Amino acid sequence: MKIIDILNSGKMSMSFEVFPPKTDTAFENVSRATQEIAKLNPSYMSITYGAGGGTSKYTLDIAENIMKDFGVPTLAHLTCVSSSRETVRERIEEMNARGINNVLALRGDIPADMENDDRSEWSYRYAVDLIREIKDSGYDFCIGGACYPEIHPESSNQKEDIKHLKEKVDAGCEFLTTQMFFDNNLLYNFLYKIREAGITVPIIAGIMPITNANQVDRAIKLSGSFMPQRFKSLVDKFGSDPLAMKQAGIAYATDQIIDLYANGLTNIHVYSMNKPDVAQKIQANLSDILGK
Ligand code: FAD
Repeated sequence: MKIIDILNSGKMSMSFEVFPPKTDTAFENVSRATQEIAKLNPSYMSITYGAGGGTSKYTLDIAENIMKDFGVPTLAHLTCVSSSRETVRERIEEMNARGINNVLALRGDIPADMENDDRSEWSYRYAVDLIREIKDSGYDFCIGGACYPEIHPESSNQKEDIKHLKEKVDAGCEFLTTQMFFDNNLLYNFLYKIREAGITVPIIAGIMPITNANQVDRAIKLSGSFMPQRFKSLVDKFGSDPLAMKQAGIAYATDQIIDLYANGLTNIHVYSMNKPDVAQKIQANLSDILGK
């Protein structure tokens, strides 16, 4: 099933994200966690692509297994900046051969050893190059991309960032998933600006449940997200008590999601990070809202 059909169905959707293992030995554990999440029957599951493509095989294995064993649609992430054209074309071929027809087309972060290269020699510089490559393959993929309500960390200003976002949509990106954010007003503001810029594709709000205090610094470093005082107070109060912090973090994420649904956002993506219990609790908190 194509993700775009789920997003356009008019129903509220909730998807969960998993990431592949880095080693063979971790595969079993990760597989088990992804299966537990699949049993919750989310609208779809997305499977990340390891930085630099190191775990690409597992991304496709997990995507295919979830689809076949649980009937849950999957969205395989694919990055391009650190890959050759040949490798990317192989991945696209393989995805198509394995029946994976939803792809989140990303640039990926620039590896430190490429920072000083002559960028004109890279096979791919931006996600839009990957979107064009996928389109050129002639296969029937539903393509999504990433967007940044608080602007991408490399962008000098939001106007430029939104201009490049529009280029991705014009190249064939059918939906956009947001970077995590902790203040819904930032998303509402961003939505207003992108709609004004002529971007009309469905936006999926990405919500990260912060369930332990150690995650906070990592999440801010990774995303550059603004932490509202309400959230900081919660970490200050409960951060040293793991169970209380988990409960409070899940409640905060649930609250964000309810506000988003109430304000007309119908599609939510939870960065569930291979944690079936977190995915299950969030889904249970929303059971009547989602009709599950
Ligand atoms: P792009 O859309 O290419 O944008 C990157 C920067 O370049 C932006 O500042 C943009 O404004 C600018 N830009 C774009 N086009 C142009 C142009 N033509 N000229 C000048 N500037 C331009 N990383 C992984 O490694 N694996 C994953 O699975 C993964 N999944 C992700 C899922 C989501 C929902 C999100 C939000 C991020 C994910 N990432 C993942 C991280 C992502 O790869 C990084 O944020 C990366 O730095 C940017 O990727 P992008 O696809 O948004 O890039």
